[in-house]
Amino acid sequence: MEKEMVRITSCNVTDCTYNKHNACHTLAITVGGPNDPCPSCDTYLHTSQKGGILDLQGGVGACKVESCAMNKSFECSAPSVTIGKHMSHPDCMTFKPKSGASKKTV
Ligand code: SF4
Ligand code: SF4
Repeated sequence: MEKEMVRITSCNVTDCTYNKHNACHTLAITVGGPNDPCPSCDTYLHTSQKGGILDLQGGVGACKVESCAMNKSFECSAPSVTIGKHMSHPDCMTFKPKSGASKKTV
C-alpha cells in the first residue's frame, strides 16, 4: 500500500517564506540534521518575499530524528505533525522521545 505523506496541521513560524496564516505551503519539509540538538524544520527559510504553493498543505518528507518514537527508518509515522517556534528556531512539536532517548538527532 502506498504511504500517504504526513501532513503539517499547523506551523506558527510566520516569518518563514513558506508560511501563510500559520500553515506551511511547501510540498515536503525535512526535519532534523546531523548536528542538530532539536527536531528542527530544516526547510525553514527567511526571505523578503513569500513562496510555496498556497493551495497546498505541507507535509513531512524526510525526518532524520531517529530518537523520536514516531520515526521509523528515518521517516515520520505520526498521523500528522505541528511545527512551532522553540527559542528562535522552528521545531517539530509532535516529537516524542523514544524511551531512554534524549532530544538529540542522529
Ligand atoms: S513547517 Fe518549516 S518550512 Fe513550513 S512554514 Fe513552518 S518553518 Fe517554514
Ligand atoms: S513526529 Fe518525530 S518522526 Fe515525525 S517529523 Fe516530528 S520528530 Fe520526525
